[in-house]
Amino acid sequence: MIFDTDADIVALRGPVPLSHLFLRRFVGPGSNAVDATCGNGHDTRLLAELTGASGRVWAFDIQEEAIRATGDRLAQAGLSGRVSLIQGGHETMAEHVPATQTAIVFNLGYRPGGNRSIVTLPETTLAAFRQALQLLLPAGILAATVYPGHASGAREHDMIETWAGQLEPQAFHVWRMGQLNAATGAPYFILIQKAG
Ligand code: SAM
Repeated sequence: MIFDTDADIVALRGPVPLSHLFLRRFVGPGSNAVDATCGNGHDTRLLAELTGASGRVWAFDIQEEAIRATGDRLAQAGLSGRVSLIQGGHETMAEHVPATQTAIVFNLGYRPGGNRSIVTLPETTLAAFRQALQLLLPAGILAATVYPGHASGAREHDMIETWAGQLEPQAFHVWRMGQLNAATGAPYFILIQKAG
């Protein structure tokens, strides 16, 4: 018997539903959370639902279209008041967000349905990851979907794995989860929990 009725979690097709599974477990009413790549706003909407009216979400994207799409999605769901939308790079996160975060979510790559040449880049992604770890509360999580299957994504994946693999094990619990029966280069999930 499967008890969770959320469709995208019941079908664990790829890393995004896996990410949502963790977000649903860690983020609750009153939490603070960040969507570092809001794109079409699906992750932001989930975070805003989970944090409730007493929590707060900060959502970043460099593209005006992404900020607009996310704003529209939140408005339709009646959740606009819970989210600060920031059109800017996630590498500026520490300037906007307090160090009270329960979860910081990255869904790397390009915006589905948008301009595929606008992608996250290894250097700025790594700068944002470093800041994110500073901004998490103890036991808070950085949840990232990584796409090694395109040129810049492959370099991003290499940089993330080299950096994350060297994090102090007493300070951070670092996990990599990928589907064994998926094609080479398929997206996968990285979870970094700050030690409690
Ligand atoms: N989470 C989104 C959703 O639920 O629809 C999907 C995100 S999409 C895969 C990746 C997004 O990252 C794109 O919208 C892109 O514009 C954005 N992006 C690229 N570089 C960025 C940066 N430096 N800071 C913030 N967002 C960035």
